[in-house]
Amino acid sequence: MVRKLASIQRVLEIVPIVGADAIEAARINGWQCVVKKGAFAVGDAGVFLEIDSVPPDTEAYRFLWTQKNAVPAEGTRPSNFRIRTRTLRGCLSQGLLLTLAEAGLDGDFADGEDVTERIGVTKYEPVIPMGSAELRAGFPSAVPKTDEMRVQSVPEVLAEIAGKAYVITLKYDGTSATYVVDPNDDTFHACGRNWSIVEGNNPYWVVAQRHGIEQKLRAHGGRYAIQGEICGPSVQKNPLGLREARLYVFNVRDLSTGRYVSDGEMRALCAEWELEPVAIVEEGECFGYDQAALLALAEGLYAGTKNQREGVVIRPRVEAFSPTLSSRLSFKAISNRFLLAEKD
Ligand code: ATP
Ligand code: MN
Repeated sequence: MVRKLASIQRVLEIVPIVGADAIEAARINGWQCVVKKGAFAVGDAGVFLEIDSVPPDTEAYRFLWTQKNAVPAEGTRPSNFRIRTRTLRGCLSQGLLLTLAEAGLDGDFADGEDVTERIGVTKYEPVIPMGSAELRAGFPSAVPKTDEMRVQSVPEVLAEIAGKAYVITLKYDGTSATYVVDPNDDTFHACGRNWSIVEGNNPYWVVAQRHGIEQKLRAHGGRYAIQGEICGPSVQKNPLGLREARLYVFNVRDLSTGRYVSDGEMRALCAEWELEPVAIVEEGECFGYDQAALLALAEGLYAGTKNQREGVVIRPRVEAFSPTLSSRLSFKAISNRFLLAEKD
């Protein structure tokens, strides 16, 4: 499932904010978003822009970046502007809810309809410094790109995993790496989030060479692909405080079956390969978390640092299909403390 940054959504609940008389909070899926009091009633449809949305530079949105007492003007949107997580009168607010008219939409829309392109919303993508990494080729088609949906956007996943044995792992704030011997050309690829990377002094290849990943994959006849997060001094802000680039494996895909192996098998293969799997935050026999409890579990520091951890990733112990996601059941809970602490 791809993330819908802007979509048509119904207000599920309106919650008063103690001590505020001009604003209140609206609930959209699992998100809470501050709105002008009385602007929406329960059941009303609106256009909801998730956090990380970059709205178009048009009248309806200019109030978002215009300073007090200034006149909204074209071309004043800061280059790094995006809709962020914030608190208003002590109330967490994530996203922006507009009426269809405010967003310039009229006509018939289905609940949940994606209007991202239609209204010209784009996604804020932080620039990930990756040393001298040059692009070699597109992403190998033999393996899916890494991605996880946020629990607030797809709250139905909680019912899908309820009662199942589960594994909750730490979410590492680094850069995604995929290693695979492409069955199409028998070539070993070290890839970032979207591309195969040219061999060189970049974290993807430094890690591959240090661990002999190509040889390890070839020892299994190229059957497996390895996906993990690389963290280290040159990646993001190095929130783990590492002295060298390290790989934390979160996926092993079996190309012979076209499936991810279960968490247990992934850990067994990591032990064989002498690779480090992502840390387990909690596991259990019967998943019973609601969204609030999961978001609380997401919060914490990376061990031995003062840096907020990004969150956690939740999966069943035995791989399962999610009708909501139309793919494997797996999702993330991002720490609100982490989002509120983000600097740029
Ligand atoms: P969004 O989809 O919310 O817009 P995004 O696509 O940039 O954001 P991330 O927030 O980086 O995605 O979350 C998904 C990524 O998290 C995965 O692609 C993977 O690289 C990384 N990740 C880090 N730790 C883990 C983990 N323990 N399990 C799975 N993925 C992890
Ligand atoms: Mn994503």
